[in-house]
Amino acid sequence: MPQTQVNDSRTGFWSRLALWKKIMVGMVLGVAAGAIMGPDAEMLKPIGTLFINAIKMLIVPLVFCSLVVGVTSMQDTRKMGRIGIKSVALYLCTTAAAISIGLGLATLFTPGEGLNMAITETAAAGKEAPTLVQTLLNMIPKNPVSALAAGNILQIIVFALGLGIALTLCGEKAEPAIKLFESLAEAMYKLTEMVMKLAPYGVFGLMAWVSGKYGMDILLPLIKVIVVVYIGCLIHVLVFYSGLISVLGRLNPMPYLKGLLNPAAVAFTTTSSSGTLPATIKAAQEEMGVSKSISSFILPLGATINMDGTALYQGVCALFIAQAFGIDLSMSDYILIIMTSTLASIGTAGVPGAGLIMLSLVLTTVGLPIEGLAIVAGIDRILDMARTSVNVCGDLMVTILVGKSENELDESVYNASTEADTASV
Ligand code: ASP
Repeated sequence: MPQTQVNDSRTGFWSRLALWKKIMVGMVLGVAAGAIMGPDAEMLKPIGTLFINAIKMLIVPLVFCSLVVGVTSMQDTRKMGRIGIKSVALYLCTTAAAISIGLGLATLFTPGEGLNMAITETAAAGKEAPTLVQTLLNMIPKNPVSALAAGNILQIIVFALGLGIALTLCGEKAEPAIKLFESLAEAMYKLTEMVMKLAPYGVFGLMAWVSGKYGMDILLPLIKVIVVVYIGCLIHVLVFYSGLISVLGRLNPMPYLKGLLNPAAVAFTTTSSSGTLPATIKAAQEEMGVSKSISSFILPLGATINMDGTALYQGVCALFIAQAFGIDLSMSDYILIIMTSTLASIGTAGVPGAGLIMLSLVLTTVGLPIEGLAIVAGIDRILDMARTSVNVCGDLMVTILVGKSENELDESVYNASTEADTASV
């Protein structure tokens, strides 16, 4: 009897451990196993391949269903017309800027250089850099079913956006179809959760293989990735967002930077922008003086479709993986990364680790090896903390700008916190 209790508490410990901690354990044990076993650790690789295949299985249905739902849930946007268009335009532009910062920093610091990893699967072959016009034309699927079957992500995104808009325009008649997509999307989120449970084991297998093959050389580049992502996030909030607040909003950025501390801290610890929503709404209304109607419309929308931190991280990781595998990216690849990550951000759920799945989408679209995903998966939680905070800061920034332009920002409330500081000095 006591024997069983001991066993129970052991299994209990592992099953109670948060997923990200399990992934970290998987990574550390994987690196250790690789260091001990050397090249023989390749025998552990199939565990990782299993995980990678399960992620690949998710991409097409997950992206398709969640994008359709992302668009149909924006029907309020039409009601609120101008406000919706303004915020969505700001969301998309700031997201594109975020990926550009990520790409710029990763080009500057080259975190993956010198790793010389070998491509085993998604060969870079066949990447005869299509021209920009070709890329744009190829985005329209001549046959959406074959686009789905072939896993052509850009075409799937375009079709899903079109279908979502059409469903919204059909109104009542399309309601059953919208409900179907909503429940399919829910099921896909559940399936994603189930697949992510394999992550610790997958990461263990792949890290064992990688460190067995490449030695400890893999660790420094990963630290570099973390540093680059954190620097990028700081620049995006402190320079870019603050700049937009003062240039577009003609406001002092200090109250914004002060007010975002609470929600950013919640985002940092929970790594979920949806989970942070109550804290974000409270900060927008009580500390930044944005009206209830504006903040309660824009913030939930932002938590679903505005993911600047995630986009920045995808830019850094895509380049890191390209550098690690020695793949040269052309100008059209860069544009493809910017477009895919921006569109993918609409379909990324505001839950922990969603950005990692979406990274596989960017990698597949650009033709980069998906194994790279497992290498960054080990440090994903650390990256998720920073990117989720930026996602939330971006939502708040857009809310302030739109609130100001609609005369729905109480500037006396907005400025109050810093005025109190000045008075007390
Ligand atoms: N965790 C992020 C969020 O909730 C999404 C991501 O994984 O990038 O905003």
